[in-house]
Amino acid sequence: MSSGDSNTSPKAARSWRPRTRAVRGGLTRTGFCETSEALFMTSGYVYDSAAEAEQSFDGTLDRMVYSRFKNPTVAMFEQRLAEIEGAEACRATASGMAAVHAALMCQLKAGDRIVASRALFGSCQWIINELCPKFGIERVFVDGPDLAAWAAALSQPATCVFIETPANPTLEIIDIAAVAELAHKAGARLVVDNVFATPILQSPLTLGADVVVYSATKHIDGQGRCLGGAVLADHAFCQDVLGPYLRNTGPALSPFNAWLLLKGLETLDLRVERHCANALKVARFLESRPEVARVLYPGLESHPQHALAARQMSGWGSILAMELKGGKAAAYAMLDALELIDISNNLGDAKSLITHPWTTTHQRLSPDDKLAMGIGEGLVRLSVGIEDGDDLVEDLGRALDRIGT
Ligand SMILES: *Cc1c(COP(=O)(O)O)cnc(C)c1O
Repeated sequence: MSSGDSNTSPKAARSWRPRTRAVRGGLTRTGFCETSEALFMTSGYVYDSAAEAEQSFDGTLDRMVYSRFKNPTVAMFEQRLAEIEGAEACRATASGMAAVHAALMCQLKAGDRIVASRALFGSCQWIINELCPKFGIERVFVDGPDLAAWAAALSQPATCVFIETPANPTLEIIDIAAVAELAHKAGARLVVDNVFATPILQSPLTLGADVVVYSATKHIDGQGRCLGGAVLADHAFCQDVLGPYLRNTGPALSPFNAWLLLKGLETLDLRVERHCANALKVARFLESRPEVARVLYPGLESHPQHALAARQMSGWGSILAMELKGGKAAAYAMLDALELIDISNNLGDAKSLITHPWTTTHQRLSPDDKLAMGIGEGLVRLSVGIEDGDDLVEDLGRALDRIGT
């Protein structure tokens, strides 16, 4: 095999639907005709002659030269995810944060302006709030659901707009199509962190976004095994803007992790379906409990952007948050009383995981910043897994019974 671009998919592959592409897209078989995708644990590649090496480096020959640039297993993962997302191109990275960092920094320079939604995953917030100003990049934060605030912030030119929807951990929803239009008028590219929605439930590129980023650590692996990330966009961005940045800074995904993620994609649709069914069941149950002041889940009619979520998502996702009336003490009592659901800051896992954002994922933010992001001391985030939904409801019910006793 000379190039990971050559794909053994039959001609019919062009009309395959996303669920078929998730199982078969990007598959490049070796001469051994293996059923499952091959794992190429190699850092480099060899040449038949010195001249072949020269041609490989000057671009006359299209072949792999070093795994920081390209690897067959990583290329299969990239191709498969691009096909599911409906993107022209995909580049994999070692973690979700490497994907976010590269997607932003490859296009920003001193004097540029970035506009971002306020409620962000902690490290994304750090990149924009702490790192960007160090390099002379002006940053502006906007309340995600407030379209008038987006219009005001984007009435001046900008290079880049970054949003996360649904947002972590408040589950607020941002109108991707409306923000894309405003971003483009301001001359900016729209980058969407699509982790909470997964490629199954929301397609930002079809809504007008320019770049989509994933932490593949979450639902794409979905089984708690490895870190990974991905950036999806058109060929021009991936080759000319992002490509040189990745090639020379080196946040490359390990072939082994790419192989795990590739196998994760095969079952992603099935897992997301169960995640969503369980999450809606759990959200409705929690809404009925007197200890819970508010449940935040896009699938509930009580969610402030329920109608918008229905328009731009094909399902409600696996993550919900709840505000407990008893504040931090109630949150701790509940977490400590759970027997099935694990206390963990990860999300998108087959196992249900619960966390207290105030003291964990968002610990480093000031109390004022947390409150501005909608994170109170009684807020608990639950990533609903694929166990039996009735067992999850029973576990949560038992734990809530214990609050205050
Ligand atoms: C986890 C996560 C990230 C970062 O991904 P890592 O794989 O942990 O580096 C970025 N954005 C969101 C929304 C996340 O949930």
